[in-house]
Amino acid sequence: MAGREDTLLNQIRARVSIPRNSEIVVGIGDDCAVLRPRGAREDLLFTTDQLIENVHFRRDTHPAPAAGHKALARGLSDIAAMGGKPKFCLVSLAAPKWADSRWISGFYRGLLRLAGQAGAVLAGGDLARSKQFSCDIVVCGGVPRGRALLRSGARAGDCIYVSGRLGGSALGLKTQAGRAWRVHLRPSPRLALGRFISEQLHATAAMDLSDGLSIDLRRLAIASSLAAEIVNPPVFRGASLEQALHGGEDYELLFTVPAIMDARVPASHQGIPLTKIGVMRRGPAGAVFLNTRRLAPLGYDHFRQS
Ligand SMILES: [Mg+2]
Repeated sequence: MAGREDTLLNQIRARVSIPRNSEIVVGIGDDCAVLRPRGAREDLLFTTDQLIENVHFRRDTHPAPAAGHKALARGLSDIAAMGGKPKFCLVSLAAPKWADSRWISGFYRGLLRLAGQAGAVLAGGDLARSKQFSCDIVVCGGVPRGRALLRSGARAGDCIYVSGRLGGSALGLKTQAGRAWRVHLRPSPRLALGRFISEQLHATAAMDLSDGLSIDLRRLAIASSLAAEIVNPPVFRGASLEQALHGGEDYELLFTVPAIMDARVPASHQGIPLTKIGVMRRGPAGAVFLNTRRLAPLGYDHFRQS
């Protein structure tokens, strides 16, 4: 059973047909759209993400710079998941009365700091008034022609890996304390790692973990028309296995490498652990088995009715 969010997306996707001569080579359904300008050596990546008050952050708990950081980190994480390098971003803000100039200045301080670190120049945007704070960010990146890491590239027998330890963001949201809270407030997009797994490990598929391993691995498996068999993933210190499996917003990378490359995967990259959690198998597309039992996709779904 597909999630409500995925069902809606599929309905929208079914109404779009990409003309044969279009420069869009990957449309709806991956972490980024991929545009191939004629004659260019580089493909362009585009992603857009919203950050909405009381959905993605709360003004009473999230400092303005953290909200700005998170707004951009979501898009940068999608660029990382394609093995790309950020180029620029566009930021549209709708700000309510409570967001005074000091708060908005703090928001941009957090956003611009991360943009500077990642090489994503703020190149434009829009400002408007509204009842609720909302921010929409477009990030554009680049990747060598034909080398974008897609969700659909996994093959039977490929090994499944995750970066980092999962569940920290969900734990932090609950406790609002310690390292887990800092990880929740300021996720680190895995940009260098995305390029490493593409260029050095010849990863076959990748995506970022934004909604939870159970739902995101299902999406990768559906895109690759395969099933996935995994064992318990690495769990963030203090988090539960449930939080690691179903908690969203870890922004770690989930990727597959050919079995032949398995021995070449280092235990960590720039201090970020890389852990093998399973293997892709022929089987019902999208089926995920955890310790041989079927795992329900209980990660975050914006349109779940419950
Ligand atoms: Mg993503």
